[in-house]
Amino acid sequence: MSEKRLVMLGPPGAGKGTQAQWLCDALDIPHLATGDMLRGAVANNTEVGQQVRPFMEQGRLVPDDVVVNVVVEAIDEAKKTTPNGYVLDGFPRTMRQADALQKVLAKRKEKIDKVILINTPDEVVQERLMQRRSCPDPLCGAVYNVKSKPARTAGICDNCAKTLIVRDDDRPETIRVRQQPNRRFTVR
Ligand code: ADP
Repeated sequence: MSEKRLVMLGPPGAGKGTQAQWLCDALDIPHLATGDMLRGAVANNTEVGQQVRPFMEQGRLVPDDVVVNVVVEAIDEAKKTTPNGYVLDGFPRTMRQADALQKVLAKRKEKIDKVILINTPDEVVQERLMQRRSCPDPLCGAVYNVKSKPARTAGICDNCAKTLIVRDDDRPETIRVRQQPNRRFTVR
């Protein structure tokens, strides 16, 4: 199969993760979601995790150079087992990230094949994020919706039986910050 390098764009809560997973299953390529990677780093308390924790807890974007490094490492790692491509979900999210990605790919004589934009109205996104429940285990990372995709047993992950949580950045006050077009502020 020819390589497929895809990018999913859209506001937080647009449904990128769900659509990306379908694509990955259909094309047999890995789903590289920056949010999952960064949450994994925080959960494992790695050096990157300690660096990004304050940004993520407040729903702010983490610094470009940190995310770019995390993504490039993930692309390299994915290539070892699945050379057919990948779906990037949650990246790039700023012009600098897009430029950095393009530079890295150009050096390798590679390019992004398709960019898919999922545009969802703010009100729909807000409702979905408040209904979202997530598995806290970074190795599981399952996502539920209390209305449209409830867990089999309320509050318990179907896959790993951990107690589901509302992500810190899915709380109403943080959702409002995440919806601002430019949410890059200094963390106090
Ligand atoms: P959402 O798309 O709902 O914001 P994600 O799971 O994609 O959720 O991301 C969670 C958090 O991780 C973001 O709020 C942000 O702090 C950080 N993050 C994820 N991707 C990026 C990125 N490309 N650039 C900067 N920060 C990011």
